[in-house]
Amino acid sequence: MVQDVSKRERLDFGALLLRRDTLAAFVLFFVALGLSIWFDGFERIAAVLDSNKAWYADEVVAAMLLSPLSITFVAVRILGEAQRELQLRQAAEAKMNRMALHDPLTGLPNRRNAEQAIADALRTAADKPFAALLIDLNRYRAVNDLHGHVTGDLLLLEVGARLQDATENDAFVGHLGGDEFLVLLHGVSDGDQLIANVQTISQTFDDAFQLGDVSIVAGASIGVAVARDCASDARTLLTHADAAMHRCKKRGANGFAFFEPGMEFAAKHRAEIEAELRSAIEEGRIVPFYQPLVDLQSGGILGYEVLARWRLEDGGLCMPDEFIPIAEETDQIGNLFYALLRRAMQEVSSWSPQFRYSLNLSAIQFTDEWLVERILQILVETGMAPGRLELEITESAIDDDVENVRKLIAQLKAQRISVALDDFGTGYSSLRHLSELEFDTLKIDKSFVMDLDSNAASQNIVRSVAALAHSLGLRVSVEGVENQASADIVRQYGCDIGQGYLFGHPAETECVIIPRSEKLLRSAGGG
Ligand code: C2E
Ligand code: CA
Ligand code: CA
Repeated sequence: MVQDVSKRERLDFGALLLRRDTLAAFVLFFVALGLSIWFDGFERIAAVLDSNKAWYADEVVAAMLLSPLSITFVAVRILGEAQRELQLRQAAEAKMNRMALHDPLTGLPNRRNAEQAIADALRTAADKPFAALLIDLNRYRAVNDLHGHVTGDLLLLEVGARLQDATENDAFVGHLGGDEFLVLLHGVSDGDQLIANVQTISQTFDDAFQLGDVSIVAGASIGVAVARDCASDARTLLTHADAAMHRCKKRGANGFAFFEPGMEFAAKHRAEIEAELRSAIEEGRIVPFYQPLVDLQSGGILGYEVLARWRLEDGGLCMPDEFIPIAEETDQIGNLFYALLRRAMQEVSSWSPQFRYSLNLSAIQFTDEWLVERILQILVETGMAPGRLELEITESAIDDDVENVRKLIAQLKAQRISVALDDFGTGYSSLRHLSELEFDTLKIDKSFVMDLDSNAASQNIVRSVAALAHSLGLRVSVEGVENQASADIVRQYGCDIGQGYLFGHPAETECVIIPRSEKLLRSAGGG
């Protein structure tokens, strides 16, 4: 902890003053004593008093001799008050120091405190290695948006408490701000032991948090950096833990990752994206690419999925996997979506009026209360009929937000905008979503389609899911169709719409179907 240097200095200064005053008092006393002896002081005063009795001079002198008693009384009182004031001031200073070094919500040490604790630990790291765990909640924003800030605050309090319960007494548990926590585990020379400890901490996020009336499962991404000699200062160690945390976050699930050299470059790249994304959106450098959606029976193009690309200044492209998660985290996904929708709808205005267009919606956008109005406004502006638009909602985004999604789907459908369940099969509760929510299209995830020609399990899944979706009255779309064999299989299973490199890669302009696949499709489908 940071030492309170100024207070100590002030106390020493007080003691010094006291010593000087006492010394001066002694010196004066001995000077007076010397003079008194030299001049026979008392006898002279007594003689003067004797000869001036009529003036009450002796009583006055007697009173003067007794007055130190009252002065002592006043001095003791003043000293007492000064003492009390000092105590109050010290208490206030201690409180301010506490506030400066602790997070007011959780009461845990804050970032400044954490940096100091790391710097202290780094001094002895050669003999006593330690690990820094940077813990970031996976869906904190969504919890705040969905359940309100009070619940969000309760979650942070609970996370702090769980981390303290899951760690030894000598571990440092801090709250760096937002949904970021730091744990320092001391004396971690044994790798297996460290992994076991990190696992214990990670597992504390498996159980749901009971926050008032709501129960929330809030996974966490944990980045681990071990301090031996890899990090020279607190900031570097935190950067390493942060880089590992983002690697873990990319995987999307509750878990942890250890820092490895090289990861910091990815973190730097991420920071650059974060810094430039806002202007890229505002200046129209996020551009739509169009990937054809093909009617599997006729082989004709039904429309396109609009996929975001970031056009870089050197002419290169940045892919959505790199910037969409950052746009979501930094609250820019809404603006990105509206800009992309507007631009795409403008660009396609001269294309066939039969085409339909799909755009991806992020979970964070479910809480945008003006979403439907703003989409309609853009469609009106660009002259696009709402019935030609479909929004794709990723399955895993729905998990703890079913009510909001249900309302949103109802609003969209009331405006004739269709809704697709994207990446089907990658979430946890797929079938529940299918029965509870009124989707128009079910889009089977590409992981089941890409190896369809060689994987019997994938074939069974796609066939069963297609039959199930049809029985529920949904259109079935498959993505990741990369070869003719897969296209033939999905057509046999009765899937309606196909998307994949076989038919066309996402491109900046309207696509012309690759002649070979068109020929094969037509011959097989009789179209
Ligand atoms: P997605 O919605 O599942 O989009 C399909 C992705 O699969 C696209 O990647 C597409 O290029 C790729 N793909 C298409 N056909 C094939 C194929 O035959 N084989 C393989 N291996 N891949 C194929 P892309 O464009 O990189 O997009 C990745 C993801 O980024 C999208 O997955 C979507 O989740 C997200 N995304 C893209 N644009 C946006 C956007 O505007 N908003 C939001 N929220 N997310 C977006
Ligand atoms: Ca999609
Ligand atoms: Ca998909």
